[in-house]
Amino acid sequence: MSTHEIVHIRVPEGMQWMVYHSIVLSDMTAIMRYHEHQSLKDCLESIGIPHTEVESCFVDSQQVSNTHIMLPDEVITIEPRRSIPFKEQSFLLDVHLGKLTTYLRLLGFDAVYFSSIEHEKLLEGAEGSVILTRSRDLLKHKRVSEGMLIRDTQTQEQLREVMRRYQLKDSYRFLYRCPNCNGLLQEVSKESVAQELEAETLLWIESYFRCPSCSKIYWYGSHYTKLEELLSRL
Ligand SMILES: [Zn+2]
Repeated sequence: MSTHEIVHIRVPEGMQWMVYHSIVLSDMTAIMRYHEHQSLKDCLESIGIPHTEVESCFVDSQQVSNTHIMLPDEVITIEPRRSIPFKEQSFLLDVHLGKLTTYLRLLGFDAVYFSSIEHEKLLEGAEGSVILTRSRDLLKHKRVSEGMLIRDTQTQEQLREVMRRYQLKDSYRFLYRCPNCNGLLQEVSKESVAQELEAETLLWIESYFRCPSCSKIYWYGSHYTKLEELLSRL
């Protein structure tokens, strides 16, 4: 390979886990074969880094967009995505993230779970949503403007990742959304739910909420105290 056939991508430490195992990093740099007319987005994705995970790219000190067409011998430096303030976005979660979906709903965030592996169908309703997935391929799609590649397999760690990226810690609301179906809960009288609950619950709890979509009843119980403990550790 002559020196005129390669490009260099400098990958910061916090992003190296995304790089495909088949790509060898030398001194934090992936050395790639140069392809004529290849965009920076395509080049990054060929090493495993989705465009949603990149904040900015530089050739020397010159900032370039990911539509930049690569030139032979170029050295590209990338910066990881920064956290962004929460703006009432809805989250669209890919298959395998069912537990994370429940957590987000318990915290009051709009979280739609997509249990099929058919990404095309998921993308049909994805406009304006934040896609959370463990699939690089899904995030590579041009129709994805905002998304996050979830690294961890543990749900609580996944929640930590998402809460940091989207600065959710000050925006959560308990008893706002149904963890079962994402419906918006409505406060209801104790009398209206008395027939459906155990006497012991009714003895201790005064405030009740019902999901108008799936009819489940909720109250401030142990689920939420555990969540508060969890949030204090995040
Ligand atoms: Zn519901």
